[in-house]
Parts: sequence; C-alpha cells; structure tokens
Amino acid sequence: MQQIFVKAFAKINLVLDVLKKREDGYHEVEMIMQAISLHDEVIIKPGKGIKVVTNHPLVPNGEKNLAYKAAQLLVNKYSVIPGVEIYIDKKIPIAAGLAGGSSNAAAVILGLNELFTLNMDMEEMLTISGQLGSDVPFCISGPTVLAWGRGELIKEISECPLLWVVLVKPEFGVQTADVYRNLNLKEIVKHPHISEYIKALNIKDVNYVINNLNNILEQSTFKLYPEVKKLKESLQLLGANHVLMSGSGPTVFALFKSREEALNFTRQAKKYYNQVYIAHTLSKQEINERVKLL
Ligand code: ATP
Repeated sequence: MQQIFVKAFAKINLVLDVLKKREDGYHEVEMIMQAISLHDEVIIKPGKGIKVVTNHPLVPNGEKNLAYKAAQLLVNKYSVIPGVEIYIDKKIPIAAGLAGGSSNAAAVILGLNELFTLNMDMEEMLTISGQLGSDVPFCISGPTVLAWGRGELIKEISECPLLWVVLVKPEFGVQTADVYRNLNLKEIVKHPHISEYIKALNIKDVNYVINNLNNILEQSTFKLYPEVKKLKESLQLLGANHVLMSGSGPTVFALFKSREEALNFTRQAKKYYNQVYIAHTLSKQEINERVKLL
C-alpha cells in the first residue's frame, strides 16, 4: 500500500509587527516568516474514517488535532479519499511560537494532494488552509513569506540567505490569544521597517537581516512571562548577538552566519537549558522536496 511521508517544518518570525486591533477582534499583523529545518515527520496512508496518532502526550489525537481538521476538510471535499491514517512524529515543541500544529495541517493537505492525485494547485491549497488557521497558508508555501491580515494573506518574497538558528524553548507553553489580549499598542516605540527588510532580503544583505530582527509581541509576552525576557537576556550574555522571540513565544532563537558558531553556542546553551534545538533557514528547493511517496 502506498503511503506519503511529509516533513512538516517549523517557522520563525524574522519581523512581526502588529498594526491595530480590528473590529472583528483579531489583530492586523504584518510579518516575515521563515521556514527552518526543525520538523515533525508526518506519514499518511489510506484508511477508514480519519485517524490521527502522535507520539506526544500533550497533542490531541482526535478532532482537536489541526491535522485531523485538515484531513476532514479534504475527505468531505474529495470522494476519492476513502479515509486516512495519519501518524505524526512530533519534534517541534508545542505551544512554542513555532507553528507546529499549523505545519502538521499543511503537511496533511500537501500529502493528501499527492497520495490521491487531487491535482489541487497552490491557490486551492492556500484557500483550504486559510480555513484552518492564520499560519497554515504560510506552512503550505514558504520558505520566506510576507504575511498580513490575520497572517493568512501571504506573498512569497526573496528567500533568506542560509543562517543557522539555535532555538531555546522554556519549560512552559504560551497561548497566542493571551499574548494578543495583553498587548498594549500605545506602548510600542519601534515598529519594524518591513519594506526595508524585504529590500535587504532581495539583495541578500545578511547583516541587515540579522541586525534588524524585531517582534512587537515580545512586549506583551515579556510582561506575562518575565522568564522569557530573562531567557533572551541570558542568551545575549552567553554571546549571541542576534536574538529574538518567535511568534507569541515562548521560544527564543539566536541567528548565526556559520554552523560552527551555532554548534558552539548550542553546546553552551545546553549547559543551562533542557530544550535546545539547532536548525537552519530553508531554501525553496528544500521546501519543494518535503513530500515523498514511499
Ligand atoms: P503558532 O506559532 O501558530 O501560534 P504554536 O507553535 O504556538 O503555534 P502549536 O504547537 O501549534 O502552537 O500548538 C498550539 C495548541 O494546538 C497546542 O496546545 C495543542 O493542544 C494544539 N494542537 C492541535 N493540533 C496540534 C498538532 N498537530 N501539533 C501540535 N499541537 C496541536
């Protein structure tokens, strides 16, 4: 029996701006998202009904799993799919600001498209993914994307030059909704210059890219969880010069130009923290090769 293997990549935000709170309660954001090599492994086979199994005790297995919801949308839409069995080997920490759940949902859409030859084009997959959550369209696309609206409107931009990423996840998770609720936009002193950042990516100005990381949500998360602010400061004291919280946190990452520097820093960080991951920014080719028929 044929099955599909999909690498479901994590993301980091290189810049994340919040422009205003909308009348529908959501916040209007503008951000540059970057796929990184840290990934969950998703295996999908034809089955009866929809079954999702993961190896992580805190990730729901049934209808609450975003991967399940993605499968349900496609099973309802395409009668050629009898049902599916999905196995997710979680390696991306959960509730971490790394879009792990969204990435799993995107992997299911990409995988089912291939396994059942659904012939969905990018536009159709983006429309379906938009029904599942703000970060899912990015996870279908990538590797480097400008996102706006709630985050669901996306445009691919020039891919980020290869950078090494060391991620440190505190021992607790953060609920994104709490972080937005606690955000005070009047207190923001420095909004990112997103158009300048995109220009820097166009001309591969690595120094601009690493020197202008900015995440407006740090203000809110740091107030709710002072440990995250402390973590950022500790990583700077350990020698990382380009450090930022990803998404709504609590994961903090440090960027390095060389693998060696990143490996050295990982060794240092592991002396103080349990959850330390090393990854690199992804190229378009790596994104294109993430789905494999087994
Ligand atoms: P984002 O960066 O998009 O805000 P996140 O990385 O902070 O996401 P997730 O890891 O996606 O957060 O998990 C958020 C919640 O979603 C978890 O608490 C978990 O219960 C639920 N969830 C549902 N499906 C999944 C999945 N496939 N993987 C991980 N979490 C999932």
